[in-house]
Amino acid sequence: MRFDTILIGGGLSSLVCGIKLQKAGRKCLMVSAGQNALHFSSGAFGLLGRLPDGTPVAEPLKVLFALPGDHPYSKIGTDKVAEYVASVPSFFRDCGIELHSVTPSGEISSEVGAAMVRNGYRMTPLGTLKPSWLAMKDVTLLESKDEFLGAKALIVNFAGFLDFNTRFIAEALEKRGTSCRIEAVRLKDIENIRRNPTEMRSVNIARVMSIEDNWKEFGHMVQDLYKDEDLVVLPEVFGLGGLEISRWLQEMIPAKVLFLGTMPPSVPGIKAQMLLKNAFESAGGTFLMGDTAIDPTIEGNTVKSIRTVNLGNIRLEAESFVLASGNLFGKGLDAAPDKVVEPVFGLDVDFPADRKDWCDQDFFSWQNFSGFGVITDSSFRAIKGGSIIDNLYVAGAELGGCNPLKEGSGAGIAILTAMSVADNILAI
Ligand SMILES: Cc1cc2nc3c(=O)[nH]c(=O)nc-3n(C[C@H](O)[C@H](O)[C@H](O)COP(=O)(O)OP(=O)(O)OC[C@H]3O[C@@H](n4cnc5c(N)ncnc54)[C@H](O)[C@@H]3O)c2cc1C
Repeated sequence: MRFDTILIGGGLSSLVCGIKLQKAGRKCLMVSAGQNALHFSSGAFGLLGRLPDGTPVAEPLKVLFALPGDHPYSKIGTDKVAEYVASVPSFFRDCGIELHSVTPSGEISSEVGAAMVRNGYRMTPLGTLKPSWLAMKDVTLLESKDEFLGAKALIVNFAGFLDFNTRFIAEALEKRGTSCRIEAVRLKDIENIRRNPTEMRSVNIARVMSIEDNWKEFGHMVQDLYKDEDLVVLPEVFGLGGLEISRWLQEMIPAKVLFLGTMPPSVPGIKAQMLLKNAFESAGGTFLMGDTAIDPTIEGNTVKSIRTVNLGNIRLEAESFVLASGNLFGKGLDAAPDKVVEPVFGLDVDFPADRKDWCDQDFFSWQNFSGFGVITDSSFRAIKGGSIIDNLYVAGAELGGCNPLKEGSGAGIAILTAMSVADNILAI
């Protein structure tokens, strides 16, 4: 079987790259081994929350010059990063995903450019704040770290739902000067899934909550619990049924409504993954779900074909290949006792030679291993044994030269490098 481009990985980066290529008329195949970071993500996108030395960043596009030369944003170039950043809201809107930012309209104008891109903050399920550039429409973004959210908050959970930790959230809000009251509601359909405690997960609750009778009943229960609070905090489990549910809840509850993330799996993340996969397939792309790319043939400096575990001996050929297999988390890298390897092509990987530098004993420190990645040239072409592979590009978390968890740049790197790789392939 022959394609124009074969993409390895089914996460944010591969999907953005594949959609762009497919829309430009290229015949693409995407091979996705399993779940990806979107399934665990917050539904908010980081662009750059911190410089590599730890300095907090308020306006990411204004500090790109301070990044090292091998950082993916430096390889893309400042002007091109600004151009891609400006195009992201409309790119996602075309895929059915509405995004917002702390700029008034959520729209980032390419004319206003750098001045308009300002980090907001999302609250994690543990109540801490993380800098974020964009968020899905029903994911709350705060204007600033010190934003006063209200004097009194009502936090409402489903009885028995342990992945929404109301105590942590209350503690975080109380530190910000908000007194909190915690309540739990019992809905018949949720009580049914609660009979098996392992079923009480965000996605199952979200499925129940996508039924109109259920979300309306929930809304009325919250209304009954409401006294005089200026803030009502709810778990992010209303996204699967569409934006109208969160809008309806916001309108019917007489207070500011804050939707906060639950422990994984992430309802907004899963929704984003489903919509991006739909967009890729609607544009004509072929998606191989639950299959793993293996056994490439490489002639000279060119990848000719791969196989997949499920398709057996059938070889899949393409003009170009994109590796967006997601770092250690996505199994795009493997760690042996003395080395870190890229398992599909055996590409050159950037990691410290001394194993003691791989991680910090302090669990809460920034960890070097989240910055390991494949070495590429300035066009994101992979390097193997010191030589460039002409038609193999690397995108997203698989890339070296950055530490996305430390920098708060995960989604930004995934999306912008995917756009850049697609443009590099289209330019050939
Ligand atoms: C748990 C977690 C939560 C995160 N949350 C956020 C967040 O809220 N906001 C943010 O900005 N960033 C977040 N990040 C950073 C994240 O890395 C990026 O946002 C981004 O989603 C990474 O996308 P990716 O496509 O590069 O990789 P991934 O999402 O990891 O996808 C890699 C894919 O490749 C597949 N794969 C691997 N090997 C093969 C193979 N041989 N054949 C076929 N498929 C293969 C994997 O199964 C997976 O589907 C998070 C990261 C993690 C690990």
